[in-house]
Amino acid sequence: MVTMTSAPFEYQKPDSVAEASRLLSKYGGNGKLLAGGHSLVPLMKLRLASPDALIDLSGIEELKGIKSSASGLSIGSMTTYHELESSSDVQSNAPLMADAASQVADAQVRNSGTIGGAVSHSDPAADLPPVVLALDAVMVTASQRSGREIPVERFFKDFLTTALRPNEVLTRIEIPKLPANTGTAYVKMANKASHYALVGVAAVITLGAGGVCERARVALTGAGPYAMRAKRAERMLVGKQLAPNVIRNAAKRAGAELDGMFNEDVHASADYREAMTKVFAERAIAAAVANAG
Ligand SMILES: Cc1cc2nc3c(=O)[nH]c(=O)nc-3n(C[C@H](O)[C@H](O)[C@H](O)COP(=O)(O)OP(=O)(O)OC[C@H]3O[C@@H](n4cnc5c(N)ncnc54)[C@H](O)[C@@H]3O)c2cc1C
Repeated sequence: MVTMTSAPFEYQKPDSVAEASRLLSKYGGNGKLLAGGHSLVPLMKLRLASPDALIDLSGIEELKGIKSSASGLSIGSMTTYHELESSSDVQSNAPLMADAASQVADAQVRNSGTIGGAVSHSDPAADLPPVVLALDAVMVTASQRSGREIPVERFFKDFLTTALRPNEVLTRIEIPKLPANTGTAYVKMANKASHYALVGVAAVITLGAGGVCERARVALTGAGPYAMRAKRAERMLVGKQLAPNVIRNAAKRAGAELDGMFNEDVHASADYREAMTKVFAERAIAAAVANAG
């Protein structure tokens, strides 16, 4: 029988990152940070997670808000999807993120779910992990003793696993300003019920003189155990005029890093995800190129 109530737990509501970090250390790996609760609470109800304590981040003002500067955006980890999709700073400086956030689930989830919870949880089908990868983000953390700045390239490690240590709070996500003549796009094949990505692709393309591709970042979600860059596809774009056949050939390599690792579940077979990765990579790259123009 599946139980739908969580095991008992203590509840803490710190009002500073320092206090949250102290509590994480106090519970020694048995305390869990609570952000929007839309991934953690279902896991607790299914008893797949039974922390001794929940440390609720909702009272910590320093984790909220979006700051814009000449170097880019600094986004507090407790910023919700709704705030991302409706922020004029995000819409103008990182439209990829605003667009992807607007495609998450439904209004209820977008009003509670946070960027910090989404990337820390690293669900293999989540929408924001490929977006922060494609945008070359830096993940800023705090712990009782110190803090770290983790390049996003080293952040997503495995299924539901990131580089965060059990005693670390993800505080901010820094998004560098996009170069001129850069176009972005996020497209996904959504699960009809939950809207999680069966396959999702984020593309960031910068064009140089004569329309030659100077820089390409393509990142995948839904396809494999965690979000990752499609580096072989990227290499097939850089230095070239991005005619449709060049984009198609690059997109065919989009799943190359996932050889033998495509997800297979009740929603889609591994073969189907592999085929759809190519289709959606082509669409995302083509849309990003059109936006760059
Ligand atoms: C019905 C439904 C549909 C959904 N559909 C989608 C969808 O289409 N696309 C999509 O991407 N997602 C979807 N989700 C997931 C949703 O986006 C979650 O909100 C998100 O994955 C987790 O964010 P959260 O703020 O709720 O985090 P929580 O559930 O509160 O936390 C998740 C994990 O991250 C840790 N954590 C949270 N904040 C921090 C922090 N600052 N530092 C360190 N660790 C932290 C927690 O300890 C926990 O382990 C759906 C969820 C539901 C319930």
